[in-house]
Amino acid sequence: MSVLIVGSGNVDLVSQVERIPAPGETVLSTGFATHAGGKGNNQATAAARASAHTTFIGAFGDDDNGARLLASLADSGVHTLVRTSTEPTGIAMITVAGTGENAIVVNAGANATLTRLTEDELRAIADATIVLLQLEIPLATVVEAARGATGTVVLNAAPARPLSRDLLAAVDLLVVNEHEAELLGGADELLTVVPRLVVTLGAAGAVVHTREATTAVAGIHVEAVDTTGAGDTFCGALVARLDEGAALPEAVRFATAAAALSVTRAGAVPAIPTREEIDDFHATH
Ligand code: ADP
Repeated sequence: MSVLIVGSGNVDLVSQVERIPAPGETVLSTGFATHAGGKGNNQATAAARASAHTTFIGAFGDDDNGARLLASLADSGVHTLVRTSTEPTGIAMITVAGTGENAIVVNAGANATLTRLTEDELRAIADATIVLLQLEIPLATVVEAARGATGTVVLNAAPARPLSRDLLAAVDLLVVNEHEAELLGGADELLTVVPRLVVTLGAAGAVVHTREATTAVAGIHVEAVDTTGAGDTFCGALVARLDEGAALPEAVRFATAAAALSVTRAGAVPAIPTREEIDDFHATH
């Protein structure tokens, strides 16, 4: 039993501002923080903290940010097969206004160099029980990884972008939020290409769709502090529980508890709960 994630790693540079600057304007920030981030890195962290044997394949730069991401992954118990790129580690420059509005510039950097999987990488992918993918790395690599898997392929189709039927045909379970589901044609349309689909609904929880049944899983009411990374925590916890042999609705209930817990804390990686925390929270909610 093992989970493997092929995906992105970024360092998030987050500036709080009173309002997003207009073109040509300079504003002073009211607060600043840097966090380990990127969907692949977040999801690998979430799977490992939920106690799955987890491997991460990605590309970082030969720089301080890359070293920081590697240390963060190792700290959470993630095994890494990370390439060192001549491009800098991916960076997301995030500006958050007091109104909650944001403006984000992403420098994919090393993430964009994660192309043509190596023999070692393909062997690790073929050996995994579950392969979890997202869309922050080149699409051709996502397709290559999905095709190279022998276990279950889970695709979190985020950030939203149109997908080929070719890719979807290699996917066993698709996880999307409401906005992404709509962009991809809706649940009924998606179920003609993928056998199982989970649509997350923010505070309202999630819905599991198969061709036979639709099962709603209620959200858990919490005092939300920061929803950044909720979807990533959900995906990582989901695959960790599936890897233990849980049925999909049960794994979705577990993921819903993990994600709800993560929104009660600030940041993405710092907010991702451990297995013990999820089990305690799940038992009492
Ligand atoms: P994304 O963050 O990818 O847009 P969602 O907003 O649907 O995805 O959130 C993913 C999951 O996180 C939800 O299915 C839910 O379990 C949990 N979640 C998100 N926001 C909240 C919230 N305010 N309260 C409780 N749980 C939440």
